Amino acid sequence: MTARILVVDDIPANVKLLEARLVAEYFDVLTAGDGYQALAICERNQVDLVLLDIMMHGMDGFEVCERLKANPKTSHIPVVMVTALDQSADRVRGLKAGADDFLTKPVNDLQLISRVKSLLRLKTLSDELRIRAETAQTMGIDELLRSGEGRSDESGQVLLVDGRANSQERIIKALKPIADVSAISDPQAALFEAAENPFELVIVNANFDDYDPLRLCSQLRSLERTRFLPLLIITEQGDDDMVIRALELGVNDYIVRPVDPNELVARSLTQMRRKRYNDRLRASVKQTIELAVTDPLTGLSNRRYLDNHLSTLFNRSMARGRPLSVLITDIDRFKQVNDTYGHDAGDDVLREFAGRIRSTVRGADLACRYGGEEFVVVMPDTSPEVAATVAERLRSVVESTPFVLKSSGQELSVTASFGISSRIPSVITPGQLMKQADLALYEAKTGGRNRVVAAA
Ligand code: GH3
Ligand code: MG
Ligand code: MG
Repeated sequence: MTARILVVDDIPANVKLLEARLVAEYFDVLTAGDGYQALAICERNQVDLVLLDIMMHGMDGFEVCERLKANPKTSHIPVVMVTALDQSADRVRGLKAGADDFLTKPVNDLQLISRVKSLLRLKTLSDELRIRAETAQTMGIDELLRSGEGRSDESGQVLLVDGRANSQERIIKALKPIADVSAISDPQAALFEAAENPFELVIVNANFDDYDPLRLCSQLRSLERTRFLPLLIITEQGDDDMVIRALELGVNDYIVRPVDPNELVARSLTQMRRKRYNDRLRASVKQTIELAVTDPLTGLSNRRYLDNHLSTLFNRSMARGRPLSVLITDIDRFKQVNDTYGHDAGDDVLREFAGRIRSTVRGADLACRYGGEEFVVVMPDTSPEVAATVAERLRSVVESTPFVLKSSGQELSVTASFGISSRIPSVITPGQLMKQADLALYEAKTGGRNRVVAAA
């Protein structure tokens, strides 16, 4: 779906101009002639970005921006303020009102489109995170996803590549409120620095006497470790060719000299936020995958993971001609634990039981919670004899030490029954291997419980 942009200006000719340019780039455009209308549209429609004029009759752009940012339903929509050229004071006020970026009138096409695209990319990422946070909330794992969010208030880590000492100083000073800046004047050394340190943004000031700054940009884009690092370039007024080539190379944004400190702060923040969102998204994907294959109560792998992974282990054991054994264990008379001490006590026992399995088997073994009070351990490179020893050791580890209930401190004697099976020539599928172990477990139960039975 294409992004929807709301253009707000009280002069119809200005609206028409911006609308035409955005439509030419295939954006979906809505328009508003004053602030009240703009707020109403943002409330009712899905708006992805607002281009907001400042000088408007009635409610001015600052107030519209403040209201958008104060409303939880609209606060996530990026706002670009359209200011008059030399109104640096407007930019400061705009930033205070929560604006994400600025454009100066008359609006330059290249700037309009690159800024809009940059902010839309950022919004896509933050929307994805918001959706995940909502899903996570319903799953009760939002705490996990939120970890790392605090970083947005932290000072950013910026690498500044700039050939001149005096401009280095000015940029360091401008970014002081939001970032720690490491400045360097040798572009080749900069490449090394960027690859070796956890920077969140690289700013390249195109002011070298005899070095093409786009070379560094291109190298940063091709190096594995810096490929996703945001890149902002500072160019000479009117050097549109360099800007176009830079954007083609994958440079994320640009600023034209003379550098307005407020603009530099706004653009740097946008880029660093984007990186942080990206990092969190990547971490949350990892987290989601882990959660999908983990049993929340015990932290062991779940049945879904076992079902997938057992066939891999089985095939590998066949291909290498190595033994493979599985153990199924089921806690004895577990229903009585629940009935006597309550479900929470039952959960305590399950956690402790899982812990004892984990500390008894080898690291290479795969321990899973298979169902309610049933657990499976898959043991690669393990002969039937060794599997029997492991099962007996586990049986004794469970029986010999009472389980302590967290709530009451009460001690409980627990036992479990075990069935084991091993891959032999007549067992040719993972399903058969499990079936054999299950039959053996059944025999252990009917034979009196608290014992190990090996498949015939
Ligand atoms: P047996 O010795 O034959 O295995 O008897 P049992 O009571 O252990 O077996 P049964 O299958 O009759 O009961 C299993 C019980 O495990 C019933 C179920 O409520 C309980 N259970 C299953 N999952 C959980 C859980 O996640 N937490 C708790 N507390 N109990 C669970
Ligand atoms: Mg106006
Ligand atoms: Mg049981």
